[in-house]
Amino acid sequence: MRVTALAGGVGGAKLADGLYRSPMINDLAVIVNIGDDFEHFGLTICPDLDTVCYTLAGIANPDTGWGQSEDTYAVIKTLERLGGPSWFKLGDKDIATHMERTRLLRARNRLSTVTAMLSRKWGIECCVLPASDDPVPTIVSTVEMGSLAFQEYFVKYQYQPQVVEFIFKNASKAQPAPGVLEAIEASDLIIFCPSNPWVSLDPILAIPGIREAVSSKRVIAISPIIGGKTVKGPAAKMFKELGIYPSALAVADHYRSLLEGILIDHADDALAGAIDRMGIKPLVTDTFMRHIPDRIRLAEEAIHFAKRNEQ
Ligand code: GDP
Repeated sequence: MRVTALAGGVGGAKLADGLYRSPMINDLAVIVNIGDDFEHFGLTICPDLDTVCYTLAGIANPDTGWGQSEDTYAVIKTLERLGGPSWFKLGDKDIATHMERTRLLRARNRLSTVTAMLSRKWGIECCVLPASDDPVPTIVSTVEMGSLAFQEYFVKYQYQPQVVEFIFKNASKAQPAPGVLEAIEASDLIIFCPSNPWVSLDPILAIPGIREAVSSKRVIAISPIIGGKTVKGPAAKMFKELGIYPSALAVADHYRSLLEGILIDHADDALAGAIDRMGIKPLVTDTFMRHIPDRIRLAEEAIHFAKRNEQ
């Protein structure tokens, strides 16, 4: 089966890894959010692309889900002693990625080309695509602090300010990266990974042409909200601050016009009926991926679910 997954960072990467490892999928493309990307110390940092690549390459830090395993922090600690900004915790191995990416970008390579070059070095055998080669930075409009660049909101202020809205700057002028629309069009199935709907998948869908391409395909989502809570991060808090009760039902409603089906957790069994009434098929299962076998099981359950729906 040919599958294209849309992913953000940690939650998205885990499911993408399950798809990558499953023998049921013979052609996988992962389209990754670039809304979190930013410049720091003159380096281009792409947190979600790196999380997805490190995870697929088997070199992600197993404790955090992001960054590289067995990394050291000599650079950031030294920087701290010099009084430099140390709020964005970069490991030494991770810094090498950002240095090399920045060098390749400055040599006039596109982000999609650089991602393919780095992916090859990491031995990744599927196609990892940034949603766009054009910068589309997410701006978080907040009650207390006005407009914040995404990483300031997320890391520096630990997503505490109250959200008013999200702005995907330049999105209307951006183009999908080469290969993005082609991957979607060639796919039998699109999977929305259990990523933050507001700041991981919406920024991908905001790039002109991507939502339209996805809407002509069969789409299955995995809810990132389990029992009204996130496994990690601010998705549930964001739903609340935007006046929506956070739940798997709210996730289904968020993608309503695009979804054929959604995998929800046993904890949300009671919501299955309401999701079904929305015209979206629910599958109730264990959606929490603790270990690598959970990733493969959940990925394959999504594929089996899609195959059953087809019959
Ligand atoms: P980020 O950019 O690192 O925040 O990554 P994502 O947007 O891809 O992932 C964050 C979302 O993943 C959060 O809403 C989590 O609740 C969700 N998530 C993380 N791990 C799991 C898991 O094992 N199962 C499910 N269903 N959701 C998960």
